[in-house]
Amino acid sequence: MELLIILIIIGGVFIFFIQNKNLESYYKLPKLEEYIQQNPKCATENGIKCVNCGSRSIKNWGLYKSNSKERLHICNHCNSTLYRS
Ligand SMILES: [Zn+2]
Repeated sequence: MELLIILIIIGGVFIFFIQNKNLESYYKLPKLEEYIQQNPKCATENGIKCVNCGSRSIKNWGLYKSNSKERLHICNHCNSTLYRS
């Protein structure tokens, strides 16, 4: 029983650090406006394009789960994370 409690605590701490790490890298990403400021050529009439490969196919991904408030915008072509919202 004690071992189970210890394992749950270790698991909880582990999950906390992983989520914290995700959140840290999330806030390092530029917002859409900052992304456009840094890469003005990426704002086209037909939408935003990837700075690395020029693809306009960008997926809107939840940070933790599909309906997370924190959104990552990831290029479908080269898989780079471009900006957050
Ligand atoms: Zn790309």
